[in-house]
Amino acid sequence: MQDEQILQKTADLLKGSQNTVVVTGAGISTEAGIPDFRGEKGIYRTLGEERVMSLLNLDAFKEKTKDFYEFYRNYFMMPKVKPSRAHRLLAEMELKGHIRAIVTQNIDNLHQAAGNKRVITVHGNAEQFSCTKIGCYTRVDADYIRNYPEVVPRCPVCKNILKPDVVLFGEPIQNYRLATDTILNSQLLVVIGSSLTVYPLAGFVGEYCGSRKNFVIINKGPTALDHAATIKLETNHTGDTLEKIFNYL
Ligand SMILES: [Zn+2]
Repeated sequence: MQDEQILQKTADLLKGSQNTVVVTGAGISTEAGIPDFRGEKGIYRTLGEERVMSLLNLDAFKEKTKDFYEFYRNYFMMPKVKPSRAHRLLAEMELKGHIRAIVTQNIDNLHQAAGNKRVITVHGNAEQFSCTKIGCYTRVDADYIRNYPEVVPRCPVCKNILKPDVVLFGEPIQNYRLATDTILNSQLLVVIGSSLTVYPLAGFVGEYCGSRKNFVIINKGPTALDHAATIKLETNHTGDTLEKIFNYL
């Protein structure tokens, strides 16, 4: 049970801010049933970081496309899951003007599915695939890939190979400038479900902390920036915690 006063104080910070930005990591999606790739049973632990990096990279995609897709289909084609209560509450908070944007390193599309309009993804979106032919611009959703009769999916328009819209090793992260500016210009930053150890987001948040503006962390377990937080809320159920805060708004 969290101290009601701390939850109320968090709500007060939200009410006092004109520009609140939320940063989310894997922790918010595990409650929806998405595995944490870097968690205890995640593929980074079970297969080893090196093997994941050797398969989930741009060269492997270009040169060993079939191997890439066999691996990708096994580990990264997530079953369709619904947004968790935490995702839905964040969508409601955006609708009511309590938060302005979400910056996420999650690729599961759950913030968008919950109804958030301003979602800045830095590692891409696993629910979308794009044609690799320059100038084609065809984009399909993951169901097209799930239903495609062959391992390597091809563009419905030009038959060239499709690539998942996720950032592979060897590729730059997406929306770098937008994500940095959004975080650094915010008046209040709320980090949810991230231990703040994965770059670049951890770096952006670290830079924000240097500004000494208000900073809230909602996470299960310690994070790399607990010492800099105005409020740290320890929770096993982000949805419950957010709901309590929401009730004070
Ligand atoms: Zn095409």
